[in-house]
Amino acid sequence: MAGKSFLIDTTKCTACRGCQIACKEWNKLPATETKQTGTFQNPPDLSASTYRLVRFQEYPSEKNYMVWYFFTEACRHCMSPPCKAEADKYVKDCITVDKNGGVQFNEKTKDLGANAAKVKAGCPYNIPRLDEATKALVKCHMCYMRVDAGLLPACVKSCPTGALNFGERDDILKLAQTRLAEAKKKFGDKAELINPDEVRAIFLVADTPAKYCEFATY
Ligand code: SF4
Ligand code: SF4
Repeated sequence: MAGKSFLIDTTKCTACRGCQIACKEWNKLPATETKQTGTFQNPPDLSASTYRLVRFQEYPSEKNYMVWYFFTEACRHCMSPPCKAEADKYVKDCITVDKNGGVQFNEKTKDLGANAAKVKAGCPYNIPRLDEATKALVKCHMCYMRVDAGLLPACVKSCPTGALNFGERDDILKLAQTRLAEAKKKFGDKAELINPDEVRAIFLVADTPAKYCEFATY
């Protein structure tokens, strides 16, 4: 099954946060109380009420001004999800893979108890979060209800720049190669796709992945 995939082309992202807000709206997730911590990233991290977060990093450039690196982060929907492999040891099928390849956490994750921490640690991208109120593990679900209705995921629908793309995996892989070639021309050979064979949320970056996010790759 080829299934669906995302291409997240960070070279086209303006950090408008449309995707972050659309995700909250569609999932009826509350705003997060936060404060200014000296960065434009807000809130500071993913949480049980923030499934998608636009991460901000800034670096001095050779031209003596700052350069921003934006990274709209959510679950990568791994092709062979390590979170599921770990969770199945404790509560079989509390994590499943749907017909599109979306990795879904369900109510049974509440039964993981103390083992939820091991499932969380099993994710190489540091994505799952524990909902303290329900004790369930939560994260992006690929907007399966929208996708089943023939719609785009809310984040993709909101993106005004072409940074977020979604569709049949084969089409997304082709688009990824086209965008990669464009990025290499513009930004040089450091442009790369992050783990495209391993995940369904494929990031295109113009520089070393770790400069965007500590858990961009592993
Ligand atoms: Fe699971 Fe993490 Fe992969 Fe998402 S990114 S499917 S939570 S291992
Ligand atoms: Fe970037 Fe698009 Fe998200 Fe705006 S909506 S922050 S341009 S990925």
